[in-house]
Amino acid sequence: MTCNRLFGAIFYTASIFGATANAQDSSVLITNVDVFDGVNETLIEDVNVLIDGNIISKISQEELSANDGLVVEGNGHTLMPGIIEGHSHLALSGITFADVLFELPGYQSIRSVDTARNMLMNGVTTARDMAGEVFSLKRAIDEGSIVGPRIYPSGSMISQTSGHADFRFRNERNPLLGGEPPITDLTGNSTLVDGVPKVLAATREQLRLGASQVKLAIGGSVSGPNDPLDTTQFTFEEIQAATAAAENWGTYVTVHGYTPRAVNQAIDAGIKVVEHGQLLDKPTLERMAKDGIWLSIQPFTLCSEPGLNDAQNAKQAIVCQGTGSVYEWIKGLPELKVVHGTDIFISPGPGIGVSEQVEQMERLLDWFTPYEILKMSTGNFTELLQLSGPRNPYPGVIGRVEEGALADLLLVDGNPLEDLSSVTDRENIKIIMKDGVIYKNTLE
Ligand SMILES: [Zn+2]
Repeated sequence: MTCNRLFGAIFYTASIFGATANAQDSSVLITNVDVFDGVNETLIEDVNVLIDGNIISKISQEELSANDGLVVEGNGHTLMPGIIEGHSHLALSGITFADVLFELPGYQSIRSVDTARNMLMNGVTTARDMAGEVFSLKRAIDEGSIVGPRIYPSGSMISQTSGHADFRFRNERNPLLGGEPPITDLTGNSTLVDGVPKVLAATREQLRLGASQVKLAIGGSVSGPNDPLDTTQFTFEEIQAATAAAENWGTYVTVHGYTPRAVNQAIDAGIKVVEHGQLLDKPTLERMAKDGIWLSIQPFTLCSEPGLNDAQNAKQAIVCQGTGSVYEWIKGLPELKVVHGTDIFISPGPGIGVSEQVEQMERLLDWFTPYEILKMSTGNFTELLQLSGPRNPYPGVIGRVEEGALADLLLVDGNPLEDLSSVTDRENIKIIMKDGVIYKNTLE
């Protein structure tokens, strides 16, 4: 076999494995439902919804035929888009921080299978994953061998020396100065780099592995042991190198950042999304609204968390103070593009992260209506997910119930726009469908 033929055979196999193996071939007709379309505050009342394969093909008050497929009597429940998690760490959930540093990587992978299943059964049909080796998990989910949400992977978070992802012990030498790569680099959860050429290589490496967007840490963090919260990380030139490499691949850079100084430098350098932002000031949020920069924010309202150590909680206490102010300013900036996420990670024990997911959505009720919360968790994502361009692993409309959109749907008891527990109470979720496949149905 020639070299070319050998590579041809390998790529053929890879493309089979890359395909979505579990798309349903037949039709599903859900009758007699009200629809929250992910965008509009008014429900579309008393309609029938036909799903052909993995696409919502028809929404109508007329009678529809299921074409020998499954007919589900919707009982007047509400059909809505599957929830989208804006900021997950599927590879780093359900484990302790000690596990990340000391356990074999296989244990992380096994626990991520549990987290992925729980997440889907909680109504989350898509996750933007914001750091961690989830390429393997995503492949297994897409192949249908395990159950979980669609994953938009970032791969490893790119971080500078003494940045957010520099989790080295003090006695570990810097890999860029003759030391060994730290364990978090070896497990594909983060990449420590300094300087434009190394940032370019790290960015391109994530794109090679299949990242749908690239994640940089551009400012201080709560969890990092070596980076004060106020710090600005990477230079303008380093961030610009990453955005240029991502744009050459048709996609974008998103950044971990809290402070105005760090975030403004990153926006100057061409990033498209800010993750967190709880310490931003009003002028920066106004700039983001004007420049079309997305805010992917989480309700960090607890000023002390049991899973964090004292040093981390001291930083958490500062971040939590900012959260409320930023939510207030968001409400006064309707043109700012905002999505909700949780940033759940390092949550030991099965299912703990999942109840936290529900609890975090309920925390938003202090500032937002159920409609606003659900829009930030569904319809607002449609445009954001398209930013991945040709690197979008699931081309199509996600986050909406409309004809032609991908069939990621929840059928819930009650009106979720009036009572959020229609979604946050698992018992009220009667049907969970992802990509046209039903994963839960308690109506039968
Ligand atoms: Zn995060």
